[in-house]
Amino acid sequence: MNGWRWTVLSDGWTEAREALLIRGGSWRKTVRCAATAVLLDRDGQGPVLFDCGYSSRFAVETAGWPGRLYRFLAPATLTDPTGIAGILRRRGVNPEEVRDVIVSHWHADHVGGLRDFPNATVHASREGWQAISGLRGLAALRRGVLPGLLPEDLPERLRWVDEGSDLFGDGSLTVLALPGHAAGQIGVRFVSEGGTPVLLAADACWLSDGYRLNRSPHRCTGLLQDLPACEATLARLHRLFLDEPTLRILPCHCPETAALVAL
Ligand SMILES: [Zn+2]
Repeated sequence: MNGWRWTVLSDGWTEAREALLIRGGSWRKTVRCAATAVLLDRDGQGPVLFDCGYSSRFAVETAGWPGRLYRFLAPATLTDPTGIAGILRRRGVNPEEVRDVIVSHWHADHVGGLRDFPNATVHASREGWQAISGLRGLAALRRGVLPGLLPEDLPERLRWVDEGSDLFGDGSLTVLALPGHAAGQIGVRFVSEGGTPVLLAADACWLSDGYRLNRSPHRCTGLLQDLPACEATLARLHRLFLDEPTLRILPCHCPETAALVAL
């Protein structure tokens, strides 16, 4: 079985104090947290996207109340106004030909570009969707969701996946449940073209040291996420890190992941 080619892409970033991102981090140090998406393809399959960045719609949706509050809490710098769709186009991939988008969770920095992939099946967990479906205004914002980013026909294009789901029926790309940061958050694992196992860990931790050291974010982030569930998920990733030394675990926002962004 051929492995997957994978390409890390990004269309923007936000910043946060290191001490918020990981216990024991510095309050003085600011970390740039890129919103990354991953393009996957292999002979005869794909293109597949894991998450899809901010897109310029993020700026539109956060221009007025209550979206503005999102921008206030996590101001974004958009590095490419054409979004992940434009970046794909420049790489020779037509966004309309993206057949599958995997949504790790529904925070705006992961689904901002969703409207740019009108022909894709959207793979997501039922639990994650049920937690945010139908929310509007402040209720949505409290969950990190900007409903205007979601296409109207999304409900018809959703396909439920969860722990162990085998996306293409051949064991090449499977889903892990990574709850805590958001209800029903998922990640995926696959084997790369070069034979390396890779795990896209979404926001199970913000920094790679999180899973390496089994160190969770600052307690105050419990206002935004379910910390006990985050800790259980992190312990699982830490165990995988110890048990599978060749496994590459990539948290979405870690600068180590951003360093892989294809220019
Ligand atoms: Zn998130």
